[in-house]
Amino acid sequence: MPTPTAHEPPVLYERRGPLAYATLNRPRYRNAQNSAMTYALDAAFYQAAADSEVKVIVLAGAGEHFCAGHDIGTPERDAHLPFERRAGLWWDHCGKQGAESRFARESEVYLGMCRRWRELPKPVVASVQGACVAGGLMLAWICDLIVASEDAFFADPVVRMGIPGVEYFAHPWVMPPRIAKEFLYTGDRMPARRAYEVGMVNRVVERAELAERTEELALRIAGMPRLGLALTKRAVNQAEDLQGMHTGMDSVFALHHLAHAHNAETAADPLGGMDVSAMKKAST
Ligand code: ZN
Repeated sequence: MPTPTAHEPPVLYERRGPLAYATLNRPRYRNAQNSAMTYALDAAFYQAAADSEVKVIVLAGAGEHFCAGHDIGTPERDAHLPFERRAGLWWDHCGKQGAESRFARESEVYLGMCRRWRELPKPVVASVQGACVAGGLMLAWICDLIVASEDAFFADPVVRMGIPGVEYFAHPWVMPPRIAKEFLYTGDRMPARRAYEVGMVNRVVERAELAERTEELALRIAGMPRLGLALTKRAVNQAEDLQGMHTGMDSVFALHHLAHAHNAETAADPLGGMDVSAMKKAST
């Protein structure tokens, strides 16, 4: 595999038969999600949604890891750049202070985007290997199904920053609440097998077979009628929201920003002074 450069697209898009593949493509940074990747992913998802030939979307990560989280320290970190207003919820964060910047940005690019992606009118299957950490969880959790390889692990270590979990707070809906507390309180890695046991992932497969088994499942789903799939997806999502997911996330998002504000007021920065190496050290 050639060494990717900064000029390579942060998300690769490919259609194969009834499947569209969106592949996170910053493997040298364990697919850390910067804004360029966020907007490229948004474009890929909506290209697939608009393409009548596409029945099912597969979200995968290039390289050894699915996604190590939001970009908090690579040379291409771009949180300071203006964002394109695609979720359309807030003004651009650039040149603003405090919550006018942070709340606006995270509402738009984290919570707002993830919610829209969860509502895509076609099934999305995540194909997860290696690290699926923090912001990476958000990308896996907006998918309808998750196929994980034996080496995959899931973790949300952001409580170490004094913050109650990532922005898309699906934790107590994708796993039982007591398990969610353990997951958050410890920040420990949850191995793929454990994630399967608690119902967070659909299948655990050999690493070498991940792509093939994901495709197999996606193709089976692609045999169903398009409208039937779209309505079924809506039905289950509505059920989750009736179980409080949508309003629960809103309430936790406020707590999340209380924590950012507390950090900004009392610590070195809104992340509680935790940089990439400190987080990496804490999560291994
Ligand atoms: Zn945040």
